[in-house]
Amino acid sequence: MKNILISILRDKNSPRDKFQEAAHKLSFILATEVSNYLPTKQINIETPMSTTQGVKLPQEIMIVIILRSAIAMLKPFLTYYPQASIGVIGLKRNEFTAKPEQYYCNLPPITPQQSIILIDPMLATGGSASFAIDLILKAGAQESQIFYSGIIGSKEGTQYLKEKYPKIKQIIAQIDPVLNDKKYIIPGLGDFGDRYFGTE
Ligand code: URA
Repeated sequence: MKNILISILRDKNSPRDKFQEAAHKLSFILATEVSNYLPTKQINIETPMSTTQGVKLPQEIMIVIILRSAIAMLKPFLTYYPQASIGVIGLKRNEFTAKPEQYYCNLPPITPQQSIILIDPMLATGGSASFAIDLILKAGAQESQIFYSGIIGSKEGTQYLKEKYPKIKQIIAQIDPVLNDKKYIIPGLGDFGDRYFGTE
């Protein structure tokens, strides 16, 4: 299913409604995959027949989105983690340097044991994700408690994050081989935000 949805996202002829639908479905799949890596708590359960052991997710999960593209992934992630608190980071990519510039940051208080799911659909150079991770770490998160999830990552970007933050688990639907000279992912899907919001 992931490959089918990514093919819809990649196809430049996919209209906005199909693009959005595929992005939501894929984000929901990614949200379930992230749960495989989150720490769980052992609990005792009483079934109608007997008692048994089970697990539950920790209470304290925070989802952090990077504006604006990650808005696309927020609702599907919240469907999975309805109690999560939400942090918002606004980063703008400088068209000339391709470096991120911060224009907004609102992170709820972070405790060291809190699991932080950072979502952003496209991981190109890794610059925006790294900028966001540094803000999250400065706010009190533990590196090992941060989980990055995205739709397409470049080899370069994923490697960069891995070297800089070895304890952060990356859950990405597809890794693409290269970036072009404007730091767009190739083959990629173009500008995710423009395609999701129907802007140019
Ligand atoms: N952001 C996008 O939307 N697309 C890319 O290819 C890279 C960054």
